[in-house]
Amino acid sequence: MASESSNNVLNLTPDQLKAKFKELGIEAYRADQVLDWIYEKGVYDFSKMTNLSLPLREKLPTVLSIQMPEQVARHKSDGDQSTKLLLKLANGDTVETVYMPMPKVDRQTVCVSTQVGCKFHCAFCASGQNGFFRNLKMGEIIAQVLLARDLSKNKKLTNIVFMGIGEPLDNYPELLKTIRTLNSKNAFGIGARKITISTCGVVPKIEALSDEGLQVELSVSLHGPNDTVRGAVMPVNQAYPVRMLIDTCKKYVKKTKRSITFEYILIKGVNAGEREARELTRLLKGMLCKINLIPYNPIEEFPHVAPSYEEVVNFQQILQEGGIRTTVRFSKGQDIQAACGQLRSIGLKKK
Ligand code: SAH
Repeated sequence: MASESSNNVLNLTPDQLKAKFKELGIEAYRADQVLDWIYEKGVYDFSKMTNLSLPLREKLPTVLSIQMPEQVARHKSDGDQSTKLLLKLANGDTVETVYMPMPKVDRQTVCVSTQVGCKFHCAFCASGQNGFFRNLKMGEIIAQVLLARDLSKNKKLTNIVFMGIGEPLDNYPELLKTIRTLNSKNAFGIGARKITISTCGVVPKIEALSDEGLQVELSVSLHGPNDTVRGAVMPVNQAYPVRMLIDTCKKYVKKTKRSITFEYILIKGVNAGEREARELTRLLKGMLCKINLIPYNPIEEFPHVAPSYEEVVNFQQILQEGGIRTTVRFSKGQDIQAACGQLRSIGLKKK
């Protein structure tokens, strides 16, 4: 049995799989057939790929593997039909993935994790509370999308958001490789514009991303209009303070001609007052951007609450009157701890 991760088909982009088949002396169209079984039919077992010749069905498992994580738990929200999967990876680490169907607008979104744990320790986020363990390989990210696709029955996945556990830009090479596979017509065929990367503001990687020529959506977690407010809840602000982050974002917009979405969690008494709203308006004035306000989803380790509905609307109004496009995201899956910031790797202890 070929079990090393380098032999995992899910760690290869479709082009890499074709090259691998060539190297193994197998006809190129066989790679297309295997890709079709995995990405179209949801079959992850070579022995069930019935249009492959019998000798090939026997040979493939000796040289390649298809490593799917084990589903340890599955929770479906009563409220909004989103489903959270707790997945156990080959080495025993766990991550979470959320599938969010929106049938009315025919949108099926998957929120994927990119790391086990997280280095960035944002005070309000569950994902980094136990520290960082490791980066996920592309195959481990792709497998999350496949399992969500299996849940969607015959509905096509339309959107991918890199907003699960971890900091996607801190796992940059695997992130880019994953995006290529998501894009590929031989795999998911999801356009870059339907893929959102959310970052806590890793400046050098935002700069690198602006040179990739990708049409992806970029979301930046801001959460404070100045270094005092942002720095109090996001340690990353020490390395990349607000001014530097905003300047980098402006350059990103100029270079890519694409708008940026700033995510701003509203936490009562921390960053959600009228003063912060006005300061935020001044900070972003004139920039091609949008703000997405997210009322804080409580986690045990950060005992705060979201402001009232009226306060949220008031905050939004101040920004809009200042000319900043602003939406409010009422997170999905709160009843199953699957909302923004509530995902965590279960049972991990710092080694
Ligand atoms: N590391 C990336 C992606 C993961 S978080 C990032 O920081 O952007 C995805 C979004 O959820 C971010 O905007 C994050 O700040 C937000 N989030 C984290 N904890 C939250 C919480 N408790 N309530 C609401 N949103 C939260």
